[in-house]
Amino acid sequence: MSRLPFDPQADAAIGVDVGGTKTNVGIMNRNGDVLASVRVATQLPGRTVVDQVKAGIDEVMERFAVLQPGGTLRGIGVGTAGQVDCASGSIRFASELIPGYTGTPVKKLLEEAYGLPVYVDNDVNVLALTEKYIGAAKNAKHVICIALGTGVGGAVMTDGKVVHGAWGGAGEIGHMTVDFNGPVCICGNRGCLEQYVSGTSIGRRMQELLVAEGRPDEAVSARDVVERWLAGDAGATAIMNETVAALGGAIASLIHIFNPEVVVIGGGVAEAGEPLFAKLREEVASRAMSSQLESATIVPAYQGNLSGMLGAGLQMWED
Ligand SMILES: [Zn+2]
Repeated sequence: MSRLPFDPQADAAIGVDVGGTKTNVGIMNRNGDVLASVRVATQLPGRTVVDQVKAGIDEVMERFAVLQPGGTLRGIGVGTAGQVDCASGSIRFASELIPGYTGTPVKKLLEEAYGLPVYVDNDVNVLALTEKYIGAAKNAKHVICIALGTGVGGAVMTDGKVVHGAWGGAGEIGHMTVDFNGPVCICGNRGCLEQYVSGTSIGRRMQELLVAEGRPDEAVSARDVVERWLAGDAGATAIMNETVAALGGAIASLIHIFNPEVVVIGGGVAEAGEPLFAKLREEVASRAMSSQLESATIVPAYQGNLSGMLGAGLQMWED
């Protein structure tokens, strides 16, 4: 087992991004420069998620020892899928996407293995740190982050700190009701934002529309819907109008509640780019109080496929 000395002033830290399928592990500094990184499978038969995380950490530590002989580390930051109890650094709940992960004391296991300080948070909360240190929210203290992917993730930062709530469950923006009579969500609520603006729901609604028009029942991706929308397709336009209305309504509410300086939108759906952002800004402007709107910009998230890993490691530079 590789061991590197701990130095609270060190310029390097390990970042770990645990996703349902892949886990990225890297050594980086607070500017987001990656010195070494590796990708491992999150789940392998006969091995726990933490076994896999440790395999990744061991490998990047070995490479770091060669690149910077005598180098020291500040610690290990983990951003992970699932709900995290941030005080204990354990997994409070993970869905069946990662069987057996619920209850894992990630922080304790990694501290025991490496003798380094370990911080664990959920994967979207750490994305807010990527935006704060190296991304779209540099120099901002009041930030809302929304990630539009398979589901919808959220994070709220006030006074420069991620809001965790009582145990770490705060910021579930995807499960904010935008239609109180809307469809039942996996969380048990009705009309959640996620039911309208996730890539999954955008694709599903297009598929339903096409089937209703007598087309074959085939899966449609959000990317397809965006392409059809930009090409002027009427059905896709209706779906994207609904998507923008739901997201714009949610953002206006968040602006009213948190008075943010920046609202950062990321995830696959945000790759639709400026046409989507222009419509969204218009929608929010039609809904939010002008006094609050003036100080809030809506911008795309930091681009880069290691943003989760970077945010995870950046926890080391939070107090
Ligand atoms: Zn929900």
